[in-house]
Amino acid sequence: MNKYEHFETATLHGGQEPDPTTLSRAVPVYRTSSYVFKSADHAARLFALKEFGNIYSRLGNPTNEVLEQRVSILEGGAASVAVSSGTSAIFYAIITLAKAGDEIISAPNLYGGTYTMFDAILPDLGITVRFADHRDPESFDRLVTEKTRAFYIETIGNPVLDVIDIEAVAAIAKKHHLPLIVDGTFTTPYLLRTIEHGANIVINSLTKWMGGHGTAIGGIMTDAGNFDWSDPRFSLFTQPDRNYHGLRWALDLPPELARIAFALRFRTVPLRNLGACLSPDNAWIFLQGLETLHLRMSRHSENALQVAQFLAKHPKVAWVRYPGLPTDPTYPIAQRYLKRGFGGMVVFGPRGGKAAAERFIDGLRLFSHLANVGDAKSLALHPASTSHSQLTEEQQREGGLSPDLVRLSIGLESIEDIIGDIEQSLGRI
Ligand SMILES: *Cc1c(COP(=O)(O)O)cnc(C)c1O
Repeated sequence: MNKYEHFETATLHGGQEPDPTTLSRAVPVYRTSSYVFKSADHAARLFALKEFGNIYSRLGNPTNEVLEQRVSILEGGAASVAVSSGTSAIFYAIITLAKAGDEIISAPNLYGGTYTMFDAILPDLGITVRFADHRDPESFDRLVTEKTRAFYIETIGNPVLDVIDIEAVAAIAKKHHLPLIVDGTFTTPYLLRTIEHGANIVINSLTKWMGGHGTAIGGIMTDAGNFDWSDPRFSLFTQPDRNYHGLRWALDLPPELARIAFALRFRTVPLRNLGACLSPDNAWIFLQGLETLHLRMSRHSENALQVAQFLAKHPKVAWVRYPGLPTDPTYPIAQRYLKRGFGGMVVFGPRGGKAAAERFIDGLRLFSHLANVGDAKSLALHPASTSHSQLTEEQQREGGLSPDLVRLSIGLESIEDIIGDIEQSLGRI
C-alpha cells in the first residue's frame, strides 16, 4: 500500500524519507546557499536539465523540496514550486505563461493584493486582465479572444466568500484550450482538491491555513501536469526561450518533462532570474503546520459554522455571509464542492453601518485586529478601511465589499470563548 494514499497520512509523510545520513526523523533544515558539483560533467548535466539536483538555493533546496512534494501529493498535482509569498506565486504563474500583448480573464472577487496586481501592475507590463462575473461562468466565455492565455479564479472569493462553480469555469477554459489557474488559499486541498475539478495550475498562500500559525510568509504553485502547452498561442513554451538556452519547453523536452513544462519554466525563468525564493527555515515552519492541516481545517470549519449560525440570529447583525449557511446565496455551489467543511472565514455587517463595524472591531478582546487570515488564533479586520482601501468605492462594490463588512477568521479556541467575545463586543454597539 502506498503510505500516502490518504490525505491525513500525506500531511505527515508526503515527500519525505528519513534523512539517510543522519537518520533524522524530522525534516532537516538545509541552511545552505549552494551545493558541491561532483564533476564538471555533473554540473553541466544539472544546468542542462539532463539530471535533477541541487545547484543553488534560489532555484531549489532539499527542505523546500519536501514541502513541494508534499503539497503536490496533497493537491494531486505533478510538480510544485515554493516561493517567498503567495503574491509572488501568483505573479510568477502569470509571467510564466503570458507576456506583453497577452490577456488574462479573471474573476473580480479577488484577494486585495491580487486585484491590484491584475488591475494596475500587469497592465503596465502590457498584460491586460479582463474581469468576468464570478457568478456567471458564461461571462468568461464572452471575454475570450485570440490573445487570452489563462483564466484565473479563487475557490472562495475574498472578501464576501462567494464560492465559484469551478467545474463550469473549467469546462469553458477547456473548450478554448486555455489553462485554469485557481487560488485555493481559502479552502486548502483538505477542503477542495481543485485539480479534480479541472484546475491546471493551483496557487496557495502558505501564509494562511497551510502554515496555519501566523508565523511565516510563503506561497506555492502546483502544476497539475494536465495541460498541453504545445499550441502556438503559448509562444513562451513553443518558441526558443531566450531565458533558457533557446529551449522550447513544450516541444524539446521528453514527454515526462514536457508534462510539467509549466513548473519547469516557473522555476528556471521567473524564480531563477527574479529571485523570490522561500527560505528553508520558512519551508520547515510550513511543513510543521501541514502536519495538522486536516485537524485544523475541520475545526476551523466547525467553529466558523457555529459563529455564522450565532450571527445569523443576533438582533444587532444586519447580514452574515458564510458558504455553509443554507440561506447563503452560494450555498448550493458550496454544498457541491465543499464536502468536508466550508472553511474558517465568516463575514457580516452589524446594524449601524461602518461606524458600528469599527466599534465592533475595537470592542473585541480575544480576536486580534490585524491583516491576516488562517491563523490558529481568531482574527478580525475591517477590509474597506484596510486591505481593500487601495480600491475605489466602485471597485469595492463590484467585488461585493460594503463599508460595514467585518471579516472574521475563526480560530481554534474554545467555541464558547469565540462566541462570547463576539457577543460582548456586539453588546457595545
Ligand atoms: C494572502 C493571500 C494571498 C497572498 O499571499 P501572501 O502569502 O500574503 O503573499 C493570495 N491569495 C489569497 C486568497 C490570500 O488570502
